[in-house]
Amino acid sequence: MKQVYLDHNATTPTDPEVVRAMAPYYTEIYGNASSVHMFGQKARRAVEAAREQVANFLGAKDSQEIVFTSGGTESDNLAIRGIAYALRSKGNHIITSSIEHHAVETTCKALEKEGFKVTYIPVDKEGIVDLEALKGAITDKTILISIMWANNEMGTIEPIEEIAKVAKGKGVLFHTDAVQAVGKIPVNVEKVGIDLLSLSAHKFYGPNGIGALYIRKGTKIQKQMFGGHHEKNRRAGTENVPGIIGLAKACELAGQRMNDYGKDMTELRDRLWEGIRKNVPHVKMSGHPKERVPNTVNVSFEYLEGESIILNLDMEGVAVSTGSACTSGSLEPSHVLTAMGIDAQTAQGSIRFSLGKDNTKEDIDYVVSVLPDIIKRLRGLSPLYKEQ
Ligand SMILES: *Cc1c(COP(=O)(O)O)cnc(C)c1O
Repeated sequence: MKQVYLDHNATTPTDPEVVRAMAPYYTEIYGNASSVHMFGQKARRAVEAAREQVANFLGAKDSQEIVFTSGGTESDNLAIRGIAYALRSKGNHIITSSIEHHAVETTCKALEKEGFKVTYIPVDKEGIVDLEALKGAITDKTILISIMWANNEMGTIEPIEEIAKVAKGKGVLFHTDAVQAVGKIPVNVEKVGIDLLSLSAHKFYGPNGIGALYIRKGTKIQKQMFGGHHEKNRRAGTENVPGIIGLAKACELAGQRMNDYGKDMTELRDRLWEGIRKNVPHVKMSGHPKERVPNTVNVSFEYLEGESIILNLDMEGVAVSTGSACTSGSLEPSHVLTAMGIDAQTAQGSIRFSLGKDNTKEDIDYVVSVLPDIIKRLRGLSPLYKEQ
């Protein structure tokens, strides 16, 4: 059976070139990067070269602005909790959006239990953060604004430069969860004026379990992982040297293919949506028609449950998801879709197709060929549909 993977926003395969770059750091250059002997120093040099590469890729001025973490979730936790605790004496107010990934959302919720106040800025029906509401929410107690660069369920790209300007104008730090932006669209922390930025390697053909947090020079942060003085005392724990090498390689490759990736993904994504739109009745695309990452399309199939579509596509070898991998299995409609004003029933029938660099036209045509029958069959069984 043909197999088509269209769940790249959940995770991507590790590029073979990345795996090749990592391999010697398991078997040959295995020293602890903090050790003083030659084995350690070789690992240290590789880690610092990788840090330099990641910094360059993000347009950061100084490689010491990069802290390696275990991934996007840890970077988000370190950024938000780290700033909250560091600036507690200055204020207790944090601003975020209503469509954040759970790594940001639940971190904010946890801080609320500890006495912090959090404002969740609404989005419009295309998933764009309300800038006026954002401006209006800032008080003299506001210490951090955390708004994602691109949404994982919809692909919507937020007006990140405007948000950075607003934050800067008010002297508030700005963190962005850029996990779904890095590797897909150009990301430059200096150009935009970002103070903290989270990224994760496994979302752009790097390995699992490694990520980074960009922290602008001079930003006070309270470390969240206690132990040794690693990462300039901002994140304790022996460096994941192979992972760090893999992350740097993934950045290098993403930089090289960025233009082609954008063109190819847009073409395939549009081919998929056109194919669905022409062959399946009662479908809607969610998210912003233009301001979105090139690989993502979120489609609502009216009168159906997303979970049953996923299972049926899976039986045909097609892997998709209802939205965030972290919420799969829960019957709650996505908080992202409901925040966009999409009614619960439409949200329930939403499927996220997230394409990757190795997908082909044949993959897309295969999906378009199996999908209409699945939808027809499921609607035949749907009490919601029969009522129409
Ligand atoms: C995947 C994802 C994360 C979490 O990253 P991990 O490396 O899997 O912990 C955070 N934010 C967004 C937007 C994501 O898509």
